[in-house]
Amino acid sequence: MKAVIYARVSSSEQDKEGFSIPAQLKLLSNYAKTHKLKVCREFIDVETAKTPGRAKFGEMIDFLRSNRDVLHILVEKTDRLYRNFKDFVLLKDLDVEIFLVKEGEKISKESHSHAKFIHGIKVLMAKNYIDNLSEEVKKGMREKAEQGDWPGKSPIGYLNNKATRKVEVDPLRAPLVKNLFELYSSGDYSLSKLRKKIYLDGLNSTNGMQLSKSMVEWILKNPFYFGEFIWKNERYSGNHQPLISRSLFDKVQSLLRRDGKPKTRKDTFIFSGLLICGRCGCQITAEIKKEKYICYHCTSGRGKCEQPYVREDIIDTLFAEKLKGMQLDDEAADWIVTALKESSRNEGLYRQTELMRLKRLYNSHQIRLDKAYEDRLDGIIDEKYWIELSKRWRAEQDTISDRIESLDTNSRDYVEEGMEIVELAQNAHSLYVKQNSSEKRDLIKSLLSNCTLNDRTLCPTYRKPFNHIVEGIQMQVMLPR
Ligand SMILES: [Zn+2]
Repeated sequence: MKAVIYARVSSSEQDKEGFSIPAQLKLLSNYAKTHKLKVCREFIDVETAKTPGRAKFGEMIDFLRSNRDVLHILVEKTDRLYRNFKDFVLLKDLDVEIFLVKEGEKISKESHSHAKFIHGIKVLMAKNYIDNLSEEVKKGMREKAEQGDWPGKSPIGYLNNKATRKVEVDPLRAPLVKNLFELYSSGDYSLSKLRKKIYLDGLNSTNGMQLSKSMVEWILKNPFYFGEFIWKNERYSGNHQPLISRSLFDKVQSLLRRDGKPKTRKDTFIFSGLLICGRCGCQITAEIKKEKYICYHCTSGRGKCEQPYVREDIIDTLFAEKLKGMQLDDEAADWIVTALKESSRNEGLYRQTELMRLKRLYNSHQIRLDKAYEDRLDGIIDEKYWIELSKRWRAEQDTISDRIESLDTNSRDYVEEGMEIVELAQNAHSLYVKQNSSEKRDLIKSLLSNCTLNDRTLCPTYRKPFNHIVEGIQMQVMLPR
């Protein structure tokens, strides 16, 4: 299977960081290797304030058009690939398969409708992404981890040396941490007993508090102490000095397993973590009642709350209703599409006349420049005055060129975009009702936020741009046509 790689950085800072393009390429070529994809070409766009636009993206499209046996694009994630809807439509027409490696998704014509839906939403939101910077930071940290340096705050028993940016052994606490492992490995201590013992020995948190039981457990389970660490679910071998041996660590793990009771997994409930109590603002959590009903109730974190229990199937219906509330009737949907087309035509007209006006203005400056130059040659104006004049007019010409360029690049195809939004909103409900639990969670998270539950009333905030559709529908109900 033949593929191309596409990578992009979008601002000068990201380029300076030096990490992002190499990190993207590394991620993508590793992926290609493990998935038996043959990479024919890499296309890299580095955008800065000075050179906007994405020449290589265009080249990639041309390449794919003329090499129809290359059917796959590898890209880090959605916002790397598309900057606007035009890009999205271009690729859609090419009928290639897109691997969004970091998001773990493949998008093609044959994709499951759920994946397509979520992808559509991501594309819509890509242009609103402002969290690029933090992404870059994360990428830099991963590079650091690969070199064996722990990228975060050092765990207890170690110190971050600010000058060398390395992790060093804390001479005060390291012996105490070592002792903690040894005590536990004796088998004579439960976690709570151990917690008290080490507090008396002098091992406490940075603010002098007694370590919690879970903190003690966390230390005992941390491979960092024998020289490895886990960063973003990946295990790395560290450069730092270990405090204990691997065999001691393994012994502790087997004792912990014997000690530990099976973990209750909270996320087996569809809606846990998605709801907030409308009465007191605490989280809504779930539990199984009478061994068969899943019930949701307030955690009562701020004192006893009167919010009654609500069954899961009822909440399910409430969410379905909310998604149904995003559906326009056919007439309204048609109307929106027509209006979009109309306004796009108007904008097209405006852009055309504006372009013509600017080009005329640019040329009139050129004529003046040429005229002044002749005057200079004929000795009508002197050298100093000529320099001053030409400088001013050339500066004005530059401003005009910039304006012309921005008119070109800002021509977003918002008819396509608008139609896609309408289509997604129309389909949300019908998709929801046939999806499984985790797909339902995904869908809710993409479309709604801040969902509060009060008795049996669900109050969500619709995410942009769907909030506009819902507002429109509500207006339609309240007002005559
Ligand atoms: Zn409450």
